[in-house]
Amino acid sequence: MTGSIEGLERFDSPGKGRGLRVTRAFKVGELLFSSRPYSYVLSVNERSCYCEFCFTRKEVLARCGKCKKAFYCNAKCQKGDWPMHKLECSAMTAFGENWCPSEMARLVARIIAKKKMQKDRCVSEKMLLIGEMQSHVEDVDNEKREMNEADIAAMHRFYSKHLEFPDQKGLLTLLSQVACNGFTVEDEELSHIGTAVYPDVALINHSCLPSVTVTYNGTSAEVRAVQDMKPGDEVLISYIDLLYSTDDRNNRLRESYYFTCDCQECKTKSKDKAKLKVRKLSDPIEPDVISNMVRYARKTIREFRLLEMCDQSLEKMGAIFDDTNVYMLHMMYQAMGVCLYMKDVDSAITYGEKVLKPFTQLYPPYSLNVSSIYLKMGRLYMVMERYSMGVSALKKALAIMEVVHGKDHYYVTELRKEITKK
Ligand SMILES: [Zn+2]
Ligand SMILES: [Zn+2]
Ligand SMILES: [Zn+2]
Repeated sequence: MTGSIEGLERFDSPGKGRGLRVTRAFKVGELLFSSRPYSYVLSVNERSCYCEFCFTRKEVLARCGKCKKAFYCNAKCQKGDWPMHKLECSAMTAFGENWCPSEMARLVARIIAKKKMQKDRCVSEKMLLIGEMQSHVEDVDNEKREMNEADIAAMHRFYSKHLEFPDQKGLLTLLSQVACNGFTVEDEELSHIGTAVYPDVALINHSCLPSVTVTYNGTSAEVRAVQDMKPGDEVLISYIDLLYSTDDRNNRLRESYYFTCDCQECKTKSKDKAKLKVRKLSDPIEPDVISNMVRYARKTIREFRLLEMCDQSLEKMGAIFDDTNVYMLHMMYQAMGVCLYMKDVDSAITYGEKVLKPFTQLYPPYSLNVSSIYLKMGRLYMVMERYSMGVSALKKALAIMEVVHGKDHYYVTELRKEITKK
């Protein structure tokens, strides 16, 4: 651990390499630890909504006078951010519209700058942990290799004035370390705010029945128990969306993290039947019809872009799959997003109502996916002046958020105000 955090220790987890376990009991909702990022970057899309330095969400922020693209709470935050912002400030002005490094390239550039700054002073423990992070360079497929090469080209193009780059191999290692160990910083509705590296949170192994959840408070990651834990229990988070069936979850884990999960849920597949529920027809559906439809659903999900396509696929899949089948839920959740984008609130609510109940049954307890959908739905009901529905959904979100975000989190206090306003 960085420093040593009371109640936690590193250990060799059988079959998983290093891991983290608790040395005392923790109750549901209790904070295990909070972690400052080694390095982080705010999404380009969120500029002007969040302070670039402390990730505070505010209506009014002050702009960097030079590039006019970065926003801050005040002069103190601007000063604090300068060692990182200076990597981009003049380049953004010079390249104008053509300045377009990916978020990954931006984060890796910051890590290189930070390593250089620290080498000049002293080696921190977080930096040592960065060096130890798994990289899987040798496992990278062609598609990822092309992305990595594009990122390296972008870093040389946009950051060469300020950075001394390691050689190609060093850069590839760093990129793939960040791909495996980076965290997407999200708000309470699970919208993407930025990307960050938390070397001590990265020690936590995966399970589809996680014992903890990570939420964000400013730029800090907070790790809270979502199960009661006893001394010796391993700390386990989920690296992926847990809605899907065991096969799909493990495909995703192998693609992105190069391992297969052997947790209790992966062994028993206890929710797979519910997750892949098919319609009850007079003639039972043949297994190969189902497996063809699963293949079709996976392909459609990958290619899915527009609402029409979504409606079409819902109709097609709906002939075989039950409405609570996770592929149907995926399409309906996507359709809800498209409706919101098109400002069609009524249709968004209709789709949202179909996914709500199955979500609460199929996700583990205290899931951020469940609190965020209650939150979205609650806010939509409020917009449509359906206040009692709204308050009830917001209260359900609140109950989960009090556990995963903690009772004093900014999001939680804001939400309480939101509820009592009506
Ligand atoms: Zn700030
Ligand atoms: Zn600037
Ligand atoms: Zn699992």
